[in-house]
Amino acid sequence: MSKAIEINNLVKTYDSGTQALKGISISIEEGDFFALLGPNGAGKSTLIGIVSQLINKTSGSVKVLGMDIGSKSGAVKSIVGLVPQEFNFNIFEKVEDILYTQAGYYGISKKESKSEIERLLKILGLWEKRDQKSMSLSGGMKRRLMIARALVHKPRLLILDEPTAGVDVELRIEMWDFLEELNKKGVTIILTTHYLEEAERLCRNIAIINKGEIKIEGTMKSVMGDESLESVFLKLVKE
Ligand code: ADP
Repeated sequence: MSKAIEINNLVKTYDSGTQALKGISISIEEGDFFALLGPNGAGKSTLIGIVSQLINKTSGSVKVLGMDIGSKSGAVKSIVGLVPQEFNFNIFEKVEDILYTQAGYYGISKKESKSEIERLLKILGLWEKRDQKSMSLSGGMKRRLMIARALVHKPRLLILDEPTAGVDVELRIEMWDFLEELNKKGVTIILTTHYLEEAERLCRNIAIINKGEIKIEGTMKSVMGDESLESVFLKLVKE
């Protein structure tokens, strides 16, 4: 299997002097459903930001599906979809238009993207809301809109930064089913979450990061051993 992500000795030092990533190395197989866990401030968003090319790395190398993010920046952007933590769409724009605008960023015309956008709106339960301004959506719908928007260009790698934060149980389970289906279709998924049971249920492989360092990495089973994920997590992040 080829690697979806290969990170070697990645360092990020912000201008403030904070070293958010202290030389981490991670490898994620194509097709994986991978959990990136860690307490607040561990460096998860920084790592995701670098892979999504929103944040510049200080040193080290990052390859996405074999392509270096430095030299193949455009090609990497076209195969990565990001669902950030914060809602960051235009609240005055209509739901459907947000997706068409996003497709436009990737050079996909309205005609070309129409059927995929229709499919995503329907499958994510937003079809009836397509003509409404996004500000009128419920919190759960806004989350789903963020996911739809990240998928309009059919990325091969989807990165979700706490996609179910503040989402009620019923919707969370619907989102899990949706993400599992997507993963079955071959999309590699990287998930950060504070809900450990969510990571345990969905993810085959896992890394726990703390203070800019990988504390443990491996299959969910090997990382847990005979313990609960929570007790492994708490032990590692206390150090
Ligand atoms: P996580 O996503 O795991 O909560 P972050 O990647 O957001 O962690 O943060 C890692 C560290 O980097 C923290 O100490 C945080 O305060 C710091 N940090 C994050 N973003 C910035 C920034 N733009 N400027 C300076 N420091 C930052």
